[in-house]
Amino acid sequence: MTDTFRAEEARDFGFETRQLHAGQRPDPNTGARAVPIFQTTSYVFEDPESAAAYFNLQEYGNTYSRIMNPTVAVFEERVANLEGAMGGVAFASGIAAQAAALFTLLEPGDHVVSSAALYGGTVNQLKHLLRKMTVELTWVDPDDPDAWRAAVRPNTKAFFAETIGNPGGNVLDIETVAAIAHEHDLPLIVDNTFATPYLCRPIEWGADIVVHSATKFIGGHGTSIGGVVVEAGTFDWSNGRFPVIADPSPAYHGLQFHETFGTYGYLMKLRAETLRDLGGAMSPFNAFLFLQGLETLSLRMERHVANALTVAQFLDGHDLASHVTYAGLPGSRYRGLVEKYLPRGAGAVFSFDCAGGREGGQNLIRGVTLWSHLANVGDAKSLIIHPASTTHRQLSDAELEASGVRPGTVRLSVGTESVDDLLWDLEQGLTYVSKAA
Ligand SMILES: *Cc1c(COP(=O)(O)O)cnc(C)c1O
Repeated sequence: MTDTFRAEEARDFGFETRQLHAGQRPDPNTGARAVPIFQTTSYVFEDPESAAAYFNLQEYGNTYSRIMNPTVAVFEERVANLEGAMGGVAFASGIAAQAAALFTLLEPGDHVVSSAALYGGTVNQLKHLLRKMTVELTWVDPDDPDAWRAAVRPNTKAFFAETIGNPGGNVLDIETVAAIAHEHDLPLIVDNTFATPYLCRPIEWGADIVVHSATKFIGGHGTSIGGVVVEAGTFDWSNGRFPVIADPSPAYHGLQFHETFGTYGYLMKLRAETLRDLGGAMSPFNAFLFLQGLETLSLRMERHVANALTVAQFLDGHDLASHVTYAGLPGSRYRGLVEKYLPRGAGAVFSFDCAGGREGGQNLIRGVTLWSHLANVGDAKSLIIHPASTTHRQLSDAELEASGVRPGTVRLSVGTESVDDLLWDLEQGLTYVSKAA
């Protein structure tokens, strides 16, 4: 293992301390205080015996950077620490992380139950990739506990949901959904990208596996694509439902991951088999940039949520805006869940409907100057997009409605600028909407 944050044994450090220090000690060879970028594909073995021990997973050591890398390892440990997880594995993207989290526990013929209120890229992934692997999928309304329960089948292997869903701002009742999963001996996988571990730690509420697109708030500056999977380490993979983890693995010369590694069985299989075979490893340079992002995560999130609330309140009271989905608004249907799971704020991504329908939304995009028109979220810079003319362009108005997007819907990712400037720019952008209307 990499250096763990050993001082932790002496004291329970706060989040702001751990986002700077967890998973790292200054480099013993050079004294370097920052995490060095180990830009190397491979590592010299001391002798044939230790090389063999590494490859047999009898000893844990660096072999090849598709499987592990010291810079990436600090990032993995730091996210695991912040999420209250046992460990983690990083990937080249959030989408790769999700695929790997699922592939590690699925076999052909299995079944997954997923929230229907998800990031669009995840909807595509679950719909098409699982089918190619002959895994069945049931979409459920994440807000309806009975729907989760009713969807379970004998071949179900996991529940999947987002802490804060897209685009409706649904807040998951994590504790309730985790309890239903556990009634059926199933793990709950939560995509915590929109909340980040600063605003919510799903494992504290019963989630078993947490996935992130580090591309968003963790990186925080719109520079790099990456993802990570962390596991609580409390799920019993020997409960009879997961021979894929408990039985001898044909993909690793008959190794029994659960029996050999105990609570680390899932994470070891995720790394030694899934990452090995799917590839999609995080590059050391990107891990370095994500570590830079993590150092200021709490500071940025405080400003993100404060600005998001101000912008949401401004739009909520505006004649040319309606359907503001920010879960942090006092009138939100998710208010109780926000108080429970997101007491520090309900994230910084939400949508609203611009007056004037499709043309109104497009005019707003034309009118703003400070908000960047692009398809990303979680940048320190404020972002805006009109789904009906971009991400959801191929859909008819009826299909748009079914996916929770109306012709005038505009999605915002509120950044950390001076909030008065953000309001000023929206106001002057909205004058283009009113001129056309
Ligand atoms: C962006 C995103 C993903 C996919 O992550 P990539 O890093 O773009 O592959 C998954 N889930 C959510 C909630 C996202 O915002």
